[in-house]
Amino acid sequence: MVKSLELKTVQLSEKTEKLRQEVRQFLKKEIQEGTFIPHCDSWLSNWDAEFSRKLGQRGWLGMTWPKQYGGHERSALERYVVTEELLAFGAPVAAHWFADRQTGPLFLRYGNEKQKNEFLPRIAQGEIYFSIGLSEPNSGSDLASISTNAKKIDGGWLLNGSKVWTSGAHLSHYMVTLCRTSTKTENRHEGLSQLIVDLSSSGVTVRPIKLMTGEHHFNEVFFEDVFVPDDRVVGTIGDGWKQSMAELAYERSGPERFLSTFPLLVELIRVLQQEASNEIMKISVGRLVARLTTLREMSLGVAGLLEKGVSPDVTAALVKDLGTKFECQIAEIARELVSYSTRVSNLRFKSLLADALLHSPGFTLRGGTTEIIRGIIARGIGIR
Ligand SMILES: Cc1cc2nc3c(=O)[nH]c(=O)nc-3n(C[C@H](O)[C@H](O)[C@H](O)COP(=O)(O)OP(=O)(O)OC[C@H]3O[C@@H](n4cnc5c(N)ncnc54)[C@H](O)[C@@H]3O)c2cc1C
Repeated sequence: MVKSLELKTVQLSEKTEKLRQEVRQFLKKEIQEGTFIPHCDSWLSNWDAEFSRKLGQRGWLGMTWPKQYGGHERSALERYVVTEELLAFGAPVAAHWFADRQTGPLFLRYGNEKQKNEFLPRIAQGEIYFSIGLSEPNSGSDLASISTNAKKIDGGWLLNGSKVWTSGAHLSHYMVTLCRTSTKTENRHEGLSQLIVDLSSSGVTVRPIKLMTGEHHFNEVFFEDVFVPDDRVVGTIGDGWKQSMAELAYERSGPERFLSTFPLLVELIRVLQQEASNEIMKISVGRLVARLTTLREMSLGVAGLLEKGVSPDVTAALVKDLGTKFECQIAEIARELVSYSTRVSNLRFKSLLADALLHSPGFTLRGGTTEIIRGIIARGIGIR
């Protein structure tokens, strides 16, 4: 079905803006108290379970979910404002990010009653964390070619295989794992399923893959005869492809797809105001801010679609494509501008720039590469 790429302008209500002020005040206080130092790419790399629990206690996780499952029944736009502020401040939100963004919504849509009751309230309290188990050593973009498999046994499934590039698997409690549960047919999308794997189970091995910064964020995860009970199957056996694609739409739809390096932009502007600036610098930063404003309008439009219950898959893919290029561009332009001025003494700027430059190679890969995303957009609007 051909989809429209129309994104409507969204006006945020007074109540929502009031919430933004609450979040800002909380974050400023946390910085003053030394709870965290702002970082770029904090949603993927800055893990702080205590901070996630604080957000849970304030009702800022599981915001849109039913109260029955520990949620707060607030709007998608209220959730948007909270996530936007957390990212803009470079807060340490990695621990709960995947669970709040996509695992919870996946369970709400496809999970059984036991899963909803067992997991959702604890995700909303910031107490349990999930990893995403999609990519494998020989399957990244071509996800349907995965070979991790589960065989039916009495009372559950026996899982074998491996996953790679698994963010936070060494710190998470569970992984939603895409695997093959029946042999491949001509339709490669058939026979795939999603299992909730307890990462403390016998037969699970998590090995680190260090980033070039030396940080431990990624992992390889191996499964050797891991037992997964029947009630840990998400949705329907064989429907894993459809379910994973719905989950990926949540994964791509948020403001983290253009705000990963926003803390650097703020500090760059501070450097220009306080230390060194000329016309070229002002024009470059002006262009960045203009692009940011457009992307934000588009991203808010995606949140508006979520609010109406419309799947944002194609429009979210468009914002992800443009947004991830933009967050790389902030790092590039900051680097170029600094080389014009050798007298910059702002240490925060230098540290954020290093963060941004070293993390930016992954921005256009994670959550689907640029080429794959453009394929989705092209198919969605009927030109492929
Ligand atoms: C920071 C980061 C965090 C990540 N976290 C996770 C995680 O938590 N869980 C998880 O499962 N995965 C994770 N990944 C993995 C990520 O999803 C994959 O890297 C991505 O899907 C690409 O797969 P690949 O690396 O195997 O590259 P490949 O699929 O081998 O692609 C290599 C290149 O070929 C291009 N290409 C491939 N197929 C086509 C095609 N059909 N047409 C045109 N070009 C094509 C790609 O665009 C790319 O440029 C993460 C990656 C990064 C960078």
